[in-house]
Amino acid sequence: MVFKGYEGVIKRYREFLPEIDEKYIITINEGNTPLIKARNLGRIINPDIEIYFKYEGLNPTGSFKDRGMTMAVSKAVSDGSKAVICASTGNTSASASAYAARAGIKSFVLIPEGKIATGKLSQALVHGALVMQIQGNFDDALVITREIAKDYDVTLVNSVNPFRLEGQKTASFEIADELGSAPDYHILPVGNAGNITAYWKGYKEYFAAGKIKKLPKMIGFQAEGAAPIVLNHIVKEPHTVATAIRIGNPASWQKAVEAKEESGGLIEAVSDEDILKAYALLAANEGVFCEPASAITLAGLIKLNGRGFFEKGSVCVLTLTGHGLKDPGNAIKVSKEPVIVPCDKNSVLKAMGIKKTKSGGFI
Ligand SMILES: *Cc1c(COP(=O)(O)O)cnc(C)c1O
Repeated sequence: MVFKGYEGVIKRYREFLPEIDEKYIITINEGNTPLIKARNLGRIINPDIEIYFKYEGLNPTGSFKDRGMTMAVSKAVSDGSKAVICASTGNTSASASAYAARAGIKSFVLIPEGKIATGKLSQALVHGALVMQIQGNFDDALVITREIAKDYDVTLVNSVNPFRLEGQKTASFEIADELGSAPDYHILPVGNAGNITAYWKGYKEYFAAGKIKKLPKMIGFQAEGAAPIVLNHIVKEPHTVATAIRIGNPASWQKAVEAKEESGGLIEAVSDEDILKAYALLAANEGVFCEPASAITLAGLIKLNGRGFFEKGSVCVLTLTGHGLKDPGNAIKVSKEPVIVPCDKNSVLKAMGIKKTKSGGFI
């Protein structure tokens, strides 16, 4: 049988990616995620701009990390590697372990103790990774993994692996293909700063190939308690509710600054309070559920809009990096509790606030 379905980012964007022999491609059909136009938030925030969400939570393991992981693991397999290792705030480990499982190789994962969302931990475990909770933070874990990968036969699949960024840049191709152009502004969360670097690389390559006629301004946001790039110094003990970007010493720090400067963009910080507000606002008004780290893009857009940053007609794309179900605890915290109702129809009607019968109007 000849399969004619979609088969992941490597096959789709082969001409823009380092060559991988077809027989070594490890894919779970990542990418091809929806670009969703805001329907209600424009009215609430600013009717004069266009807002689109690149919903990366719909990748196979629920985050954009899969785009990079298909490249990194395929390359590892084609080089004969039998194991991968990563430090992770959660999503890298979920993705690495899934792609390693698919490839039939081992995965080793170092995570900061106690600071990882349950959904992400469950993924690494169920995909069969050896999960090591180290008594330190992400930055400490990354130092150890880098050293081990240097001296032993395991492939590092953090975003310092250049193949990760190659895969991740395909998201900007998809956006440009769907919009028929680059957006005016591209807004991203910044943690280890690999993704903003990858998107900028992607846009520049598409521009060079004549596929788009202009480049976007790259806008990055860090959480106030984990904002080394904004503060211009390492943050020893980063803290934020957005655990996916709880990073004090980003590996791609310099490249993120270059993306900002070359594109004429900016990198700023947003408070946890504003992140959680945007997180709830997005879910309640667009039906799109993302992680707190992803919602920082909307919080940031609201912040910039408040000071009249966007010209009329601006097209803004926000990358929603991960799925909200990874970390449901936060959703429950920011929402109303379920109401407890006795088990009879009248009590249910009373709780619903319904008084009239049919055609008498609703509530
Ligand atoms: C990894 C991750 C980020 C941060 O991306 P970087 O490339 O490290 O800047 C943001 N959000 C989510 C959900 C992530 O998994």
